[in-house]
Amino acid sequence: MSDCVKYNRDFFSHVSRGIIAPLWAAKESSPYLRHLKKLVDAPYRDLKAVLAEQDSRLTRLIAHAYDNTKYYKEMMDEAGVRPQDVTTVADLSKLPVLTKDAIRNQGDNMISGIHDRSKLRNKTTSGSTGVSLSLYIDEDSQQWKRACAVRHDMWCGWRQGEAIGAIWGNPTYKDNWRLWLRNALLGRMVYLDTLKMDHAAMLEFHEALLKKRPTQLFGHAHSLYLFAKFVKQNGLQCYQPKGIISTAMVLHDFERSLVEEAFKAKVFNRYGCEEVSLIASECEAHEGLHINMDTIILECVDPNGIPVAPGEVGAVVVTDLSNYGMPIIRYKVGDAARIRSEPCSCGRSYPLIESLEGRIADYVRTPDGEYISGISLTENFAMQAKGVKQLQIIQEAIDFIVLRVVKGSDWTSDSVDNLNRLVNQRFGEQMRHEIEYVDSIQSESSGKYRFCISKLEDQPF
Ligand SMILES: [Zn+2]
Repeated sequence: MSDCVKYNRDFFSHVSRGIIAPLWAAKESSPYLRHLKKLVDAPYRDLKAVLAEQDSRLTRLIAHAYDNTKYYKEMMDEAGVRPQDVTTVADLSKLPVLTKDAIRNQGDNMISGIHDRSKLRNKTTSGSTGVSLSLYIDEDSQQWKRACAVRHDMWCGWRQGEAIGAIWGNPTYKDNWRLWLRNALLGRMVYLDTLKMDHAAMLEFHEALLKKRPTQLFGHAHSLYLFAKFVKQNGLQCYQPKGIISTAMVLHDFERSLVEEAFKAKVFNRYGCEEVSLIASECEAHEGLHINMDTIILECVDPNGIPVAPGEVGAVVVTDLSNYGMPIIRYKVGDAARIRSEPCSCGRSYPLIESLEGRIADYVRTPDGEYISGISLTENFAMQAKGVKQLQIIQEAIDFIVLRVVKGSDWTSDSVDNLNRLVNQRFGEQMRHEIEYVDSIQSESSGKYRFCISKLEDQPF
């Protein structure tokens, strides 16, 4: 294979960064560039100072939520907790966790009475577990979140104004000339729509990469992987960005290594959710994901809502320190993670998520009562299931799973025996299973793809 075509720091990126971005931000009265300046050095502060700042911001947020929202006032009164009882992050566990159901039922009562609702940004999340949520975010919070995301883009070596190759769902800017212009001058995204990743679309995207030579490649973990595989299998010219940002779903080790091999660049993992945006992101040391202490308090908790020790797996619970329009306090995101006790070697003090264990709803339970995370199953099956192009495991009952299989070109009669053996090994003899052959496994409307789906009610956290 010939040498890689490398990213290009073109002249226009200097113009976009130095002139267009500040002008556009001024026109939108957007302070995100000012925020960004502060945020770049913020993670290098002493951890004690960072935690003290979180405590004082939390104290302010709790007082605001109690005074100005019906939901938090009633909830705290019922729990017998006064605002002055919650002045440190450790005090948070005095409050119950906030579930998706509570937001769905009480959403309107969570909106701040001193904010003008028409000025809040409404966000309806696609709802990974099939149920959507409606949230409101105030403008200031929106700008801080935007700046935090841009800061992480910079950790992968990208600089403002440079082009980005994005493998993402449904870009809408084509229908709107203002958005189109903004993208051409400022966002500079080249898109591959994840809902239409066929041969022709991937080929076209590959050509666009070679032509525009973006510094950053960005996308859903699994879509990046599929595209990397496509490039390799078709012997296409290698394209090398400066860095690759993987987001929106769990990134498996086998995906990371193939993506890095195909593009000769490092992957930077990013974790967030639509409700609070960026939660944690990986730096150049690649030792874990730094918690985004500038807008988030993150806890990993047990089934009673009590934080687990570092190193132990718990349910992710986040408090959004920036959104006063609709306070989000102790929100249970629906994922499981493990916090690392040691700091990162990069010098940033923000603590690390050591590993993301995937969605709680994707845990599969064996007839013996053992919970297995969807992510570890995927690692297991993807590495060992020979001849399988794509796989999805659906738990229908405690003792019954369905394997949906897309056959690969190397599928043989041994492949079935191999799958049967893997199921017995991993789930025990009592687990019955059925193999269903399909042509493809569709992504959800958000463009994400689920390896494991559990239809059981009970969950480990
Ligand atoms: Zn680091």
